[in-house]
Amino acid sequence: MKVADVYIHGEWRWPDTWVTRYPSLLDLQHFTSHSADKVVWRSSSGLELDYGTSSVWNDIRTAHDEVPWSDMVWFPQAIPRHSFFMWLLVNKKLKTQDIMARWLSSGNMNFNLMCCSLCTLGPDSHEHLFFECPYSDQVWKGVKDLAGLHNVTNSWGSIYDHLVHFRGSKNAKHVIGRMVVSAAGYFVWQERNARLFSTKKRGANRLIEVILTTVRMKLHTMRFKRTSQVDSILQDWSLPRGLVIEDDDCG
Ligand SMILES: [Zn+2]
Repeated sequence: MKVADVYIHGEWRWPDTWVTRYPSLLDLQHFTSHSADKVVWRSSSGLELDYGTSSVWNDIRTAHDEVPWSDMVWFPQAIPRHSFFMWLLVNKKLKTQDIMARWLSSGNMNFNLMCCSLCTLGPDSHEHLFFECPYSDQVWKGVKDLAGLHNVTNSWGSIYDHLVHFRGSKNAKHVIGRMVVSAAGYFVWQERNARLFSTKKRGANRLIEVILTTVRMKLHTMRFKRTSQVDSILQDWSLPRGLVIEDDDCG
């Protein structure tokens, strides 16, 4: 209900039931404002905010300290489905076989029957899939140079440390590093699932191609600030020089 519905021709016209319940309504002074009705949100600290889902959400949510990996998982150039995947990976929430074995240990499922669908050498886990598995390792080696991560090993710990170290950096090399790791993880996980639940199989070289093509397509939509580093990145990725602009951040 709006104020205009109960304030008519200079008089308050409260519904009878309201007055019975809240007699103090009769003591209300005349209404003197001529501004238009609007919806406001009174915050937990008593401020009147313009109503909007974001202001309400920020008021009612419990805010925690920012986690170190937030800018590494969510960044402007990221591919949303890859970010969602990275969020699960960083938090080790993917349903890998080592985790499922713990759930099933009381049942009659045999853990020994589970094995990594990429290498069939043993059960998979976050560490194994990203990227210690021989198949994933081959994929990692095939993409890490273009990602500017030559010196980073195939262990998730070292990849994570590197990305967290450069989180928030807008340097093209660091942005591309984040994009390639997210895409590599996403497609390795997709391949792992495809092999478990279907008969489809792609070799490591094919997967490398898919990862690099996906990132290259995304790079095509970005604009880069001119530096000598950017010139060589464009060359390495076979991207047109027209993506360089003179005075802005990449992306
Ligand atoms: Zn494996």
